[in-house]
Amino acid sequence: MSGEVLCERCGSELKEGELRCPVCGRFTPPPEKQDDCGADDGGSQKARARVIRCTSCRAAVTYSPEAQNLRCAYCGEVAEVETPCNPIDETEKFYPFTVTREAAEEGLKTFWSRAKWYHHKDVAAKGTLTELRATWWPAWLCSADASFFWTADTTVGAGRSKWAPHAGRIDKKLDKFCVSASRGLTLRETSAIIDGYDLTSFESAPRGPEQATVECFELPRSQARQCILERINSYGLALVKTEVPELLEVQSRRVSTAGLLSFLRTENVSLPAYILAYRYKNRLYRVVINGQDASVSCGEYPVSVLKVAAVVLMVTVLIAVSIFVLLAALGFILAI
Ligand SMILES: [Zn+2]
Ligand SMILES: [Zn+2]
Repeated sequence: MSGEVLCERCGSELKEGELRCPVCGRFTPPPEKQDDCGADDGGSQKARARVIRCTSCRAAVTYSPEAQNLRCAYCGEVAEVETPCNPIDETEKFYPFTVTREAAEEGLKTFWSRAKWYHHKDVAAKGTLTELRATWWPAWLCSADASFFWTADTTVGAGRSKWAPHAGRIDKKLDKFCVSASRGLTLRETSAIIDGYDLTSFESAPRGPEQATVECFELPRSQARQCILERINSYGLALVKTEVPELLEVQSRRVSTAGLLSFLRTENVSLPAYILAYRYKNRLYRVVINGQDASVSCGEYPVSVLKVAAVVLMVTVLIAVSIFVLLAALGFILAI
């Protein structure tokens, strides 16, 4: 984080090596020297650090000699060592593990207790923990002033035609908006566990359970910025659909948004999580538990096919009976 360079037009932060503002595209000449991929000065030493790449899910973690078994933290598959040619972004802030392995195991029990009616209820009694790995997953924490301009057709003021066009704008200050950079965790998993983190206290080095791995940032910077902007835009679309009064409680279609950002700042952070696998009747299920709050988790339950089939059958019978009663009543009315 040396000498911050800001875009003159929109105030967004330019990372080292960026010549164009990722938000508004304004060209900004480099302040002094720039180094590129493959440069062999001291700055690229980190870039040439070795990583362990999973042969199955392709997630990469930084290589540490004390990690004895080359197994992927996410799926348990065999991983291989590689030396990437692109520079790897560094984590600026590590959020520490505050949940111990034992507490994570308790967290699994909490997770099991939340099984829904269509899951096997005996999962807590018959499920066995087979794998528990600690890892830091990479994310970008973004702050920006965002304006989302929206357009949509709604039924309001449509007169005789069904739809009328509407447009508007919604402003939002983004503060520590989290965009996952993880390959090993799905978007569903990271969105589910993000709320359990305390984003106020961080450290400059990873501190946590033994053999915890650190997943790398991998996207080249331009792609990373693209990914961040896309995520902010889809957040904007969701925001417009749920918060714009003109669109609530009326029918709408063709809702679209265009985001305008200024003062965008991103930080590369690593967030702690436990990846667990449990076995239930010869099948493995995966659960992800927040490394700072074991009650925050996301994962799979064994679905009871029998229960689902019973409900489908009941509904079918109910519909058939009501149709029969209706027809009988109709026949009766017509007969008199
Ligand atoms: Zn700009
Ligand atoms: Zn994997």
